[in-house]
Amino acid sequence: MTRKQDSIRGVEQEQENDEEQQDLKEDSADRSPLNEIKENAQSRAQEESLRTIYRNNLKKILDRQFEPNGYPENLMSHVAREFLKVESYKPKEEGTTAEYLPDTDTKCVFCFKAVDSSGDAELMPCQGQMGSIEKRKIACRSKFHANCAIKYNAGSFLFQYSALPECQGKLQCPLHCCSLCNNEHYKQVAYAGEMTECALCLRAFHKELCIPAGSKNLDVEIKIEGRGVQFEMIVCPAHFTKKKTGKHIAACDECQNTKDLIKCSTCVRSFHKECQDVKTLDGQPIPADKCEKCLAGDAVRYDVPVLVRWSDNIVDDEVY
Ligand SMILES: [Zn+2]
Ligand SMILES: [Zn+2]
Ligand SMILES: [Zn+2]
Ligand SMILES: [Zn+2]
Ligand SMILES: [Zn+2]
Ligand SMILES: [Zn+2]
Repeated sequence: MTRKQDSIRGVEQEQENDEEQQDLKEDSADRSPLNEIKENAQSRAQEESLRTIYRNNLKKILDRQFEPNGYPENLMSHVAREFLKVESYKPKEEGTTAEYLPDTDTKCVFCFKAVDSSGDAELMPCQGQMGSIEKRKIACRSKFHANCAIKYNAGSFLFQYSALPECQGKLQCPLHCCSLCNNEHYKQVAYAGEMTECALCLRAFHKELCIPAGSKNLDVEIKIEGRGVQFEMIVCPAHFTKKKTGKHIAACDECQNTKDLIKCSTCVRSFHKECQDVKTLDGQPIPADKCEKCLAGDAVRYDVPVLVRWSDNIVDDEVY
């Protein structure tokens, strides 16, 4: 071994020792070193068997990469976080507590059942992580059936995408994908960087940059392994009833035509029924007075100018 390699080894060793000491400091002091070794060996064995499950699943899922999930014609609504019980989120409160219900470990975050409609009882633990305020990475608690994750298409979510090697090569729930960036088809960007999760639904947004206008900031303390961990979360605008809007844009959001417009009941957009790609929402015919963007639960970032296509001369209708 060269001296350089040797010194690299040395550095790694030191880092490992540091981490170990950190862990020791963090954990309760009554743990004996022998118990610790046993527990470590056990958790390593568990990790290894999990890794094998992931490897097998990853392959199976990538084989189904191009399987259609009904998007956008048969759109699904964003699903609620059934298993995270939030104490309260009143307008004036900035902080609250929450707990994971026992069902978190035995049921699917998409269908809320232990066994899915096809009889599959295998729940895959999400490989994503949550970022806490104290910068500790905490494993995401979501578990799901492969079929449920592959079918889920709210906000154009595509489960297989994050499993691709050019993305993250991980099987992850939607809480690790920025809902706004993803909806704008910045698929790869959508998975990079830190996210702020909605405490009430399976949506997340890039921390600070993509927090949708109208969100409520909410610091949430969640008990994890007996200890309160602080998370910066939001309640996204989808959970507030929108007031009827006054003035509408006098051209279709899609074709720019100004004739026979339907005014959206929840935003300023106008549209034609035949210009909508979404045909059903959760298997039901779509409400006649809601635009496609509102059906998809689309949101707008703070402090971002919104330009709307008005005539053929202005081509850019994107939020930028
Ligand atoms: Zn399921
Ligand atoms: Zn997750
Ligand atoms: Zn984003
Ligand atoms: Zn939400
Ligand atoms: Zn139109
Ligand atoms: Zn709308």
